[in-house]
This record gives sequence, structure tokens and C-alpha cells, in this order.
Amino acid sequence: METILTVTFINKDVRMTIELSGLYVPNRIARYMITTLQDLMGENGLNAVLKQSGLPTYREICPPDNMENAFDFSIYSAICSAVANTYGPRGARVFLIRAGKAGFRNGIQSFIDHYGAGLERTGKLVPLSIKLPLFLKWIAKNYTETSDRIVEVKDNGDHYLYINKRCPVCWGRHVTSPDCHITLGFLQEATSFISNGAQFQIRQITSIGAGDASCDFIVPKRPVE
Ligand SMILES: [Zn+2]
Repeated sequence: METILTVTFINKDVRMTIELSGLYVPNRIARYMITTLQDLMGENGLNAVLKQSGLPTYREICPPDNMENAFDFSIYSAICSAVANTYGPRGARVFLIRAGKAGFRNGIQSFIDHYGAGLERTGKLVPLSIKLPLFLKWIAKNYTETSDRIVEVKDNGDHYLYINKRCPVCWGRHVTSPDCHITLGFLQEATSFISNGAQFQIRQITSIGAGDASCDFIVPKRPVE
């Protein structure tokens, strides 16, 4: 018999039971999201958001700053969902895109440590047509290796497709239109970084939370003029 693990949180009078996924993101990745939301909303603001959805307080839910792959997808998505419940789709989009951008900026040192030094040495001599796909593929590989996400990048002619086959942002959620905004913000910042500040018109076109097979993002090959 298959056992379904759940966790129940009680925050004052609000009770929330979450079915755990058994799939994880590194603590540090979840921590970046949670601390950025805390920066944007203040601790009281974020606590109000969490409480409204029956989640524990900021201090209780924020994991330690380490790379242990231990923060359950279900709790990660419950936090994104809590932001949407409180602020509505538009407000949540603003907060979560910012959280995604900050997540990239906070994690960029590991990119430079692993891989970026070579690119930096050759600097601006490396054309974007080489740097951009290399970078997107590096992110996909890194995410797939260090967490239970499964990410692929495909060359689709005039754009790249960034494909999340297992996505913690919409895990277990049912949404009417794609809203994995953290990933969108992350990709906006990542593409801006690798292109020395250019902006790309990135769009999410499918979402597992909306019933699709994967969460797909179109990344144009060329930035906005
Ligand atoms: Zn998703």
C-alpha cells in the first residue's frame, strides 16, 4: 500500500494540510525565495500572507542556508500559492518575478565559480549566439543535478525553449493560465546577466499546473532592440 505523507500546519486558528511530494529543491533556493518575499513585504506582511493560507510563520518556514536537497516541492508551491491568494494574480506576478530575479542574483556566484570564469576571460568576444544557449543549458543541467527538478533546453529555430518537466512552482496546483513567475523572473535576470544587460521578451506558454506536460518558456534568441 502506498503511503501518502502529509504535513499539517496550524497557524493560530488556520489549519493547512499539505500532501508532501517527496521531491525537493535545495534549502538555499527556497530560502532565497522566502527571504526575498520578506524583503519586499516586510516580516509582518509575509507572515500575514502565510497565515492566511495556514502556513507557518516566516521564521518557522525558512530553511537553513545550505545546499541540502530537502525543501519539499509541495511547500514551495504552497508559498507561491499563498502569495497569489493574498495579492491576486497581478500582485503575485510582481512579487514572484522579483523573487525569481533575486534568486538568480543570489546564486550567480556559483555560476562564476563553476563555469563563468572562462566566459569572463574571453568576455565580450564570445557572441551571444554562443553564450546564451550555453548558459541556459548550464542552468538546466545544474538544476537537474542539484534538485529534483528536470529541466531541458531545446533550440527551436528562432527561439530556445526552456522546459521544466518537474516544476516546484506549480506542483500540485490547478491554475487556469501559466503562472510560474519565479522561473520567469529568474530567466529574465539570467538572460540579462549573460548579455550584459539586454532584455529578452520571455514568455511562459505552458504549465503543468494548467494541465500541460511541462512548464515551457520561450526565450527569444535576440534581445529587444
Ligand atoms: Zn510550473
